[in-house]
Amino acid sequence: MKVICFQCGKHIRNIPSEIFGEDAVSHGLCKTCAHHFMAQTGMPLEEYLEGIDMPVVTVTPEGTIGTANAKAYAFLGKSPAEVQGAKGGDVFECQYALLPEGCGQTVHCSGCAIRRTVMDTMETGETHTRVPAYLNQQSDDGSRRTEFLISTEKKGGIVFLKVEKTKPTDNEKKGDRNKS
Ligand SMILES: [Zn+2]
Repeated sequence: MKVICFQCGKHIRNIPSEIFGEDAVSHGLCKTCAHHFMAQTGMPLEEYLEGIDMPVVTVTPEGTIGTANAKAYAFLGKSPAEVQGAKGGDVFECQYALLPEGCGQTVHCSGCAIRRTVMDTMETGETHTRVPAYLNQQSDDGSRRTEFLISTEKKGGIVFLKVEKTKPTDNEKKGDRNKS
Protein backbone atom coordinates (compact mmCIF):
# COMPACT_ATOMS: atom_id res chain seq x y z
CA MET A 1 0.00 0.00 0.00
CA LYS A 2 1.24 3.45 -0.96
CA VAL A 3 1.20 6.35 1.48
CA ILE A 4 0.98 9.73 -0.23
CA CYS A 5 1.00 13.25 1.24
CA PHE A 6 -2.55 14.58 1.30
CA GLN A 7 -1.28 18.12 1.00
CA CYS A 8 1.27 18.00 -1.85
CA GLY A 9 0.63 14.56 -3.33
CA LYS A 10 4.22 13.37 -2.78
CA HIS A 11 4.81 9.66 -2.32
CA ILE A 12 5.91 9.15 1.29
CA ARG A 13 6.46 5.41 1.63
CA ASN A 14 5.12 1.96 0.91
CA ILE A 15 3.71 -0.15 3.67
CA PRO A 16 3.33 -3.88 3.28
CA SER A 17 -0.29 -4.91 3.59
CA GLU A 18 -1.88 -8.32 3.21
CA ILE A 19 -5.38 -6.89 2.94
CA PHE A 20 -4.74 -4.04 0.50
CA GLY A 21 -2.81 -4.37 -2.76
CA GLU A 22 0.21 -2.40 -3.89
CA ASP A 23 -1.97 0.15 -5.67
CA ALA A 24 -4.08 0.97 -2.61
CA VAL A 25 -3.51 4.46 -1.29
CA SER A 26 -3.35 5.74 2.24
CA HIS A 27 -2.73 9.35 3.24
CA GLY A 28 -0.30 11.09 5.54
CA LEU A 29 1.57 14.37 5.76
CA CYS A 30 5.06 14.40 4.26
CA LYS A 31 8.03 15.79 6.20
CA THR A 32 8.28 18.90 4.04
CA CYS A 33 4.63 19.85 4.52
CA ALA A 34 4.75 18.95 8.21
CA HIS A 35 7.86 21.10 8.77
CA HIS A 36 6.36 23.98 6.84
CA PHE A 37 3.24 23.92 8.98
CA MET A 38 5.22 23.53 12.21
CA ALA A 39 7.53 26.41 11.29
CA GLN A 40 4.66 28.81 10.78
CA THR A 41 2.33 27.75 13.58
CA GLY A 42 4.66 26.27 16.20
CA MET A 43 2.72 23.05 16.52
CA PRO A 44 2.13 19.83 14.61
CA LEU A 45 -0.90 19.77 12.32
CA GLU A 46 -2.69 17.12 14.34
CA GLU A 47 -2.35 19.09 17.57
CA TYR A 48 -3.64 22.20 15.82
CA LEU A 49 -6.63 20.34 14.36
CA GLU A 50 -7.62 18.69 17.62
CA GLY A 51 -7.28 22.01 19.44
CA ILE A 52 -10.16 23.43 17.39
CA ASP A 53 -13.43 22.96 19.22
CA MET A 54 -15.56 22.26 16.14
CA PRO A 55 -15.48 20.01 13.08
CA VAL A 56 -12.63 21.06 10.81
CA VAL A 57 -11.20 19.56 7.63
CA THR A 58 -8.21 20.63 5.57
CA VAL A 59 -8.62 21.27 1.85
CA THR A 60 -5.78 20.50 -0.56
CA PRO A 61 -4.77 22.66 -3.54
CA GLU A 62 -6.62 20.08 -5.70
CA GLY A 63 -9.83 20.78 -3.80
CA THR A 64 -9.92 17.41 -2.10
CA ILE A 65 -10.11 16.85 1.64
CA GLY A 66 -6.69 16.32 3.21
CA THR A 67 -7.39 15.34 6.76
CA ALA A 68 -9.78 16.25 9.58
CA ASN A 69 -10.15 16.28 13.33
CA ALA A 70 -12.05 13.75 15.44
CA LYS A 71 -15.03 16.11 15.71
CA ALA A 72 -15.27 16.27 11.92
CA TYR A 73 -15.20 12.48 11.52
CA ALA A 74 -18.03 12.27 14.08
CA PHE A 75 -19.93 15.12 12.40
CA LEU A 76 -19.61 13.46 8.98
CA GLY A 77 -20.18 9.95 10.27
CA LYS A 78 -17.18 8.82 8.23
CA SER A 79 -13.84 7.20 8.88
CA PRO A 80 -10.50 8.87 8.05
CA ALA A 81 -10.11 6.46 5.11
CA GLU A 82 -13.44 7.65 3.68
CA VAL A 83 -12.58 11.33 4.12
CA GLN A 84 -8.88 11.68 3.26
CA GLY A 85 -8.29 12.25 -0.43
CA ALA A 86 -12.00 12.42 -1.22
CA LYS A 87 -13.73 15.34 -2.92
CA GLY A 88 -15.49 17.81 -0.65
CA GLY A 89 -18.87 17.20 -2.25
CA ASP A 90 -18.57 13.47 -1.68
CA VAL A 91 -17.49 13.88 1.92
CA PHE A 92 -20.38 16.27 2.65
CA GLU A 93 -22.78 14.18 0.54
CA CYS A 94 -23.73 17.00 -1.79
CA GLN A 95 -26.31 15.64 -4.22
CA TYR A 96 -24.62 17.35 -7.17
CA ALA A 97 -21.42 15.42 -6.48
CA LEU A 98 -23.38 12.33 -7.55
CA LEU A 99 -23.81 13.74 -11.07
CA PRO A 100 -21.52 12.21 -13.72
CA GLU A 101 -19.42 15.42 -13.87
CA GLY A 102 -18.59 15.11 -10.17
CA CYS A 103 -17.91 17.64 -7.41
CA GLY A 104 -16.55 20.92 -8.74
CA GLN A 105 -17.49 20.22 -12.37
CA THR A 106 -21.29 20.49 -12.47
CA VAL A 107 -23.35 23.51 -13.53
CA HIS A 108 -24.36 23.94 -9.89
CA CYS A 109 -20.83 24.24 -8.54
CA SER A 110 -20.14 27.87 -9.48
CA GLY A 111 -22.83 28.93 -7.00
CA CYS A 112 -21.51 26.78 -4.17
CA ALA A 113 -20.62 29.06 -1.26
CA ILE A 114 -18.44 26.39 0.33
CA ARG A 115 -16.37 26.01 -2.83
CA ARG A 116 -16.13 29.77 -3.42
CA THR A 117 -15.13 30.54 0.18
CA VAL A 118 -12.52 27.79 0.32
CA MET A 119 -11.04 28.78 -3.05
CA ASP A 120 -10.83 32.43 -2.03
CA THR A 121 -8.93 31.56 1.13
CA MET A 122 -6.69 29.26 -0.91
CA GLU A 123 -5.84 32.04 -3.37
CA THR A 124 -5.75 35.12 -1.13
CA GLY A 125 -4.94 33.66 2.28
CA GLU A 126 -7.83 35.62 3.70
CA THR A 127 -9.85 34.31 6.63
CA HIS A 128 -13.63 34.06 6.34
CA THR A 129 -15.79 33.69 9.42
CA ARG A 130 -19.22 32.06 9.69
CA VAL A 131 -20.31 32.39 6.07
CA PRO A 132 -23.82 30.98 5.48
CA ALA A 133 -23.75 28.03 3.09
CA TYR A 134 -26.03 25.16 2.26
CA LEU A 135 -25.94 21.82 0.58
CA ASN A 136 -28.66 19.76 -1.02
CA GLN A 137 -27.93 16.34 0.32
CA GLN A 138 -29.21 13.07 -0.98
CA SER A 139 -31.56 11.31 1.41
CA ASP A 140 -33.97 8.37 1.29
CA ASP A 141 -36.90 10.57 0.29
CA GLY A 142 -35.20 12.69 -2.36
CA SER A 143 -33.03 15.51 -1.18
CA ARG A 144 -32.85 17.75 1.86
CA ARG A 145 -31.30 21.12 2.33
CA THR A 146 -28.73 21.35 5.09
CA GLU A 147 -27.53 24.74 6.20
CA PHE A 148 -24.11 25.43 7.58
CA LEU A 149 -21.98 28.27 8.77
CA ILE A 150 -18.51 27.82 7.41
CA SER A 151 -15.25 29.45 8.41
CA THR A 152 -12.02 29.21 6.46
CA GLU A 153 -8.43 30.13 7.19
CA LYS A 154 -5.01 29.42 5.75
CA LYS A 155 -2.17 28.55 8.11
CA GLY A 156 1.24 27.12 7.35
CA GLY A 157 0.25 26.65 3.72
CA ILE A 158 -2.80 24.56 4.65
CA VAL A 159 -6.42 25.64 4.17
CA PHE A 160 -8.83 24.82 6.98
CA LEU A 161 -12.59 24.59 6.63
CA LYS A 162 -14.62 24.69 9.83
CA VAL A 163 -18.24 23.69 9.78
CA GLU A 164 -21.16 24.48 12.06
CA LYS A 165 -24.59 23.15 11.30
CA THR A 166 -27.35 25.71 11.77
CA LYS A 167 -30.33 23.36 11.43
CA PRO A 168 -30.73 19.78 12.55
CA THR A 169 -30.96 17.30 9.69
CA ASP A 170 -33.96 15.05 9.19
CA ASN A 171 -31.94 12.13 10.47
CA GLU A 172 -31.22 13.87 13.73
CA LYS A 173 -34.85 14.86 14.11
CA LYS A 174 -35.87 11.25 13.53
CA GLY A 175 -33.26 10.12 16.02
CA ASP A 176 -34.60 12.50 18.66
CA ARG A 177 -38.10 11.24 18.13
CA ASN A 178 -37.00 7.65 18.50
CA LYS A 179 -35.32 8.43 21.77
CA SER A 180 -38.37 10.02 23.39
ZN1 LIG B 1 3.61 17.09 1.36
